[in-house]
Amino acid sequence: MDQIIIVGHVDNSSSAPLNPYQGQIDHSADHDRNEHDAGPQNHQPNSEDIGGSSVFFPTTEIKTVHITATSHATVTFDPNADHLVTQSLLTAFNSIINSVTNVTRVNVSATTNGHAVDSNHGVGDAVDINVVNGVHIGTSGEGLALATALENAAKADPNVRFVEGPIGNFVRANPGDAWKPSGDLGPSQFTHVHFDVFPKH
Ligand SMILES: [Zn+2]
Repeated sequence: MDQIIIVGHVDNSSSAPLNPYQGQIDHSADHDRNEHDAGPQNHQPNSEDIGGSSVFFPTTEIKTVHITATSHATVTFDPNADHLVTQSLLTAFNSIINSVTNVTRVNVSATTNGHAVDSNHGVGDAVDINVVNGVHIGTSGEGLALATALENAAKADPNVRFVEGPIGNFVRANPGDAWKPSGDLGPSQFTHVHFDVFPKH
C-alpha cells in the first residue's frame, strides 16, 4: 500500500515541498494524480451496491454558498477548488467537521472542480477532503486515523448518502437508512474522504 500513500505526490519533477501548508503547490493536475475521485471507470459494483459515486442524483437545490471555516476548524482549498455548493452540503460539512473534536484544519481538494456538470459533485452536493490537520489522508498512521474519524462522522449524519475513503465505501437509499457496502473505486479512495448528501426533490 505504500505506493498508494504517496500517489498524490508521485510527480517528482517539481521541487515544491510535499506539505501543502508549506507553500504554493499547483494541484491543477490532481485529478490525474488521484487526489480526488477517479470516477466510475474504476467502479466495480458489488451485489449490494445501490448507487455509489458513479450514479448521478439530480437535485432541485441551487448552489448558493461557499464552504468556509467551521466553528472548530479553518478550511483551505486546493487551487480552483473553492466553488459554490448547496446549503445541504454545507450544513453536512459543518456538522461532520465539528463532530470530530480534534480536527482544526481541513483542506478541500474538490467541490465542483474536476467533475462533470451532471454529477453529484457538479451539482454541488459532494466534497473531497485530502488533508486534515496538515496530514494527508492515507492508509496508515495519522492519515488513516483521521480518515476513519471523518468517514464515521459522515456516516453518522442522516442526510449523507454516500461515503468514500480509506476504510471503505458506503451507500444508502434513504436518509437515516442502514449503510451498505459500495464498490471499490480504485486508488483514489485511499487519498481522500468524499461524502455527498441526498438530493432535494
Ligand atoms: Zn468526491
